[in-house]
Amino acid sequence: MTVKKTSDMRDGEAVLDAPQAQDAFVQFIGTIRTPFTTRDLCPRQGKLEGPDCRLELLPEWAAALKGITAFEYLDVLYWLHMSRRDLVLQSPKSNGTTTGTFALRSPVRPNPIGLSRVRLIRQEGPTLIVKGLDCLDKTPLIDIKPERCAFTPQAPHKDADKA
Ligand code: SAM
Repeated sequence: MTVKKTSDMRDGEAVLDAPQAQDAFVQFIGTIRTPFTTRDLCPRQGKLEGPDCRLELLPEWAAALKGITAFEYLDVLYWLHMSRRDLVLQSPKSNGTTTGTFALRSPVRPNPIGLSRVRLIRQEGPTLIVKGLDCLDKTPLIDIKPERCAFTPQAPHKDADKA
């Protein structure tokens, strides 16, 4: 591990000299609109009674919403695009106590994917109105899935499902 220090790091934090190269292609399917214009205004985790937010899909992905209104809760994945990606150890409390990145839900991670369980309020064409997000306005949207407990697979059972 290369110990490199930048001025925005807290005591005890460690950073990896990780390559910036992209080795996987993620296509954004739309944009998330929230009332949170700065990171300080974002809650640490979204609240289901929080403000309405909008998942605005690109027109070419709008048809992929077919059937979505059958579900009250959705899992939303998004790209925390303003995050640094090189911290291995983090000190969330700024007190020198460090925790590994993978033991945190911090936005700072090698692949800054955010995951929130949201409540679907309504669909307006290519846009879903939801509650429960914690991300900045204009955060890129990666994926939407029905919440797994409410979802019954539509494909035929596999032997592996029976055990
Ligand atoms: N709920 C998600 C999860 O658990 O994977 C994200 C949790 S993360 C702690 C939420 C915080 O990330 C917000 O409070 C804000 O400080 C920060 N954040 C939100 N949107 C961001 C963005 N687009 N880029 C970087 N940081 C962001």
